[in-house]
Amino acid sequence: MDSYRHKGLRSKLITILKDKGISDQRVIAAMSLVPRHLFLDKAFEEWAYRDQAFPIGCGQTISHPYTVAVQTQLLDPQPTDKILEIGTGSGYQAAVLSHLCKKIYSIERHEPLYRNTSVLLARIGYRAIRTLHGDGYLGADRFAPYDKILITAGASTVPDTLLQQLRVGGYLVIPIGEGDDKTMKRITKIAEDKYSEESFGVFHFVPFLEGTES
Ligand code: SAH
Repeated sequence: MDSYRHKGLRSKLITILKDKGISDQRVIAAMSLVPRHLFLDKAFEEWAYRDQAFPIGCGQTISHPYTVAVQTQLLDPQPTDKILEIGTGSGYQAAVLSHLCKKIYSIERHEPLYRNTSVLLARIGYRAIRTLHGDGYLGADRFAPYDKILITAGASTVPDTLLQQLRVGGYLVIPIGEGDDKTMKRITKIAEDKYSEESFGVFHFVPFLEGTES
């Protein structure tokens, strides 16, 4: 399932990520553990450890490893954190987070992706991840508040509902902007209804769309 060859390719990917500026040792350790080739169609297995996005069905893609590393680093994951991820997709980002945090809730709007990824995560043994089928714009109020919220699709505005589900002191990381280029933003909830914002470079994402698909 995860061979020496895969581990070798993975360590080369880690070198690429470090060269690109990823410095958080926890993120590097977590990404060294997650077998990315299992989160992709067999057809792409050979390329699984390149810093590339690949199709995962339903017109969606698994994010570039570099993007996953940046978003994970910005969340500053802590062992006690309860995290909400919007956009389960392949489950790879959730798997990385599950090595660093206590509990991950992850929402996907495409039912087939939700179903396939739920089966995969259970099979590999990622028990800290709870997958949900639904519209990420609504979040998941029943498990709120979250220490951190991560949006892994490109948005044009920050949904108010998600900010409400974030605990005071928590971060929400979201790629945001008009058009294809999205600026990575980290929003800190300083107090109820008080926020600060930082920007971290431009990235490409599939769109953050309202509603669900079956
Ligand atoms: N984190 C994923 C990235 C997948 S791409 C991974 O590691 O593979 C982004 C995903 O967000 C897609 O699967 C897309 O269907 C999903 N998405 C987009 N808008 C959404 C919404 N409103 N609610 C939930 N998921 C959404």
